[in-house]
Amino acid sequence: MKVLLYYKYVAVPDAEMETLRHRALCQKLELKGRILISSEGINGTCSGTPENIEKYKEALNTHKIFSGIDFKESDHEGHAFAKLFVRLRPEVVTLRAGIEAVKAAPYITPEQLHEELERGEDLILIDMRNDYEAEIGRFRNAVTLPMRNFRDLPQHMPDLKKYAGRKVVTYCTGGIRCEKASALLKEHGFNDVRQLEGGIVRYCEAFPNGHFDGSLFVFDDRRAMRFPGARTKTYVSSCSFCKCETDRQIDCQDHICHSLVVCCEACEKTNNGYCKKHDNVGAPVL
Ligand SMILES: [Zn+2]
Ligand SMILES: [Zn+2]
Repeated sequence: MKVLLYYKYVAVPDAEMETLRHRALCQKLELKGRILISSEGINGTCSGTPENIEKYKEALNTHKIFSGIDFKESDHEGHAFAKLFVRLRPEVVTLRAGIEAVKAAPYITPEQLHEELERGEDLILIDMRNDYEAEIGRFRNAVTLPMRNFRDLPQHMPDLKKYAGRKVVTYCTGGIRCEKASALLKEHGFNDVRQLEGGIVRYCEAFPNGHFDGSLFVFDDRRAMRFPGARTKTYVSSCSFCKCETDRQIDCQDHICHSLVVCCEACEKTNNGYCKKHDNVGAPVL
């Protein structure tokens, strides 16, 4: 199977109708995944057979609104998702800060970023993903945020203020969050911001052993992914219990907690799938 990751910021005049049509298309092609459509564009990740993924890309490439998408593609054994969700949303990525992607910072290509990092250019890399994503893989020396949801980004602006006068590059998984995050930084007085074009995905495809360390968190059944050619078994994360090196994460089974934490297989068994905040029967650890 193939897994696609893509987005496009574009005005969608009748997002409700597009959502219905899109769902029908995905059902016909037996795709699974999560696709969000809003009046500001489309944000999707889905899996399907190579033939159906080709048909899907073709359908989007000839679509009057969604043509010209830069699809990021990877291989996977079977579907990477359990279900198909095609939803109408107010935003393609939720920030609720009244930020428009048209005010985004200019792009820096993976090649340009790599060149600047190799040269030792004085720049600040800011990871615009959630903390549990950055935990298992990130650019070396990047600034990461203690954020569980992208919509909390505006709350972290005071902590980032100290970098406002610096040369900044933002990055995320595939680029969609940076379109808004970089615009938000500009609004907060950052005047030398660029966003990594195509995100970590495009950078690691070009430089699997470059300046990105560890694994890439993905929002599908794989959770952590590695790129072809990347050194295996180099982790930046360790099990929250026994500290062994791993990029394996579990979703704490406490129904209120649901924290995504790094946890090896043995410790998951020992603590019955609960994170460190609970004992092995789920009682809080004080
Ligand atoms: Zn462990
Ligand atoms: Zn927990």
